[in-house]
Amino acid sequence: MERLQKVMAHAGVASRRGAEALITSGHVKVNGEVVKTLGVKVGVHDRILVDETPIQQEMPIYLLLNKPRQVVSTVTDDKHRKTVIDLLDGAVSERVYPVGRLDYDTTGLLLLTNDGELANRLTHPRYEVEKTYVAKVQGIPTNEQLKQLRVGVLVDGHKSAPAKAKLLSTNDDRKTAIVSLTIHEGKNHQVKKMFQAVGHPVMKLKRETYAFLTLDGVSAGDFRQLNPEEVKQLK
Ligand code: URA
Repeated sequence: MERLQKVMAHAGVASRRGAEALITSGHVKVNGEVVKTLGVKVGVHDRILVDETPIQQEMPIYLLLNKPRQVVSTVTDDKHRKTVIDLLDGAVSERVYPVGRLDYDTTGLLLLTNDGELANRLTHPRYEVEKTYVAKVQGIPTNEQLKQLRVGVLVDGHKSAPAKAKLLSTNDDRKTAIVSLTIHEGKNHQVKKMFQAVGHPVMKLKRETYAFLTLDGVSAGDFRQLNPEEVKQLK
């Protein structure tokens, strides 16, 4: 969601100041209602009229990106480090934002969109989008520790919600293991903190699925648009 005057300015209606003046003087309607205050935020699906003429908003766009390591997803502009927006390489003219985040050193599936409404909903704990991560961890988790991950461990003083945890393979010489963890929550560093809580720090982390979406056909650093059917299913 963006401020109404910003969206108007971006659509070429007027400058930001000019758009503010149009709003406060009662020239602007959002979804049929005159809006005269300046705090209002709108999304790509809101219908905005200026003197009864609809403004052309950006088309909603939905991208599925396979994030490599050493790329930032928390900001869209970083002076020193590569961001997920840099990976789009100018091929997308819409201003898209990541849905949630992946750590700098985490790889895998990240959605990007300019549809703030959907992004907010997907990241809201109430909607509990299921995400599967595959982690390489130090040490080999016991059955009891896997069970603890499933039932819930303390993350920042709160018990994590029920999860699925599965030991995929072990390297007995190096004392490492590959474990898949499926969670619904998305707290900061959630997966790393959950493994830390059972004494198996994460060495490598990849997000393999997000809801029903997978990385099939999208190699590291690449992205594709979601098709209309996928967008519908996400909503
Ligand atoms: N959990 C983490 O710890 N890191 C991520 O990047 C994603 C989930």
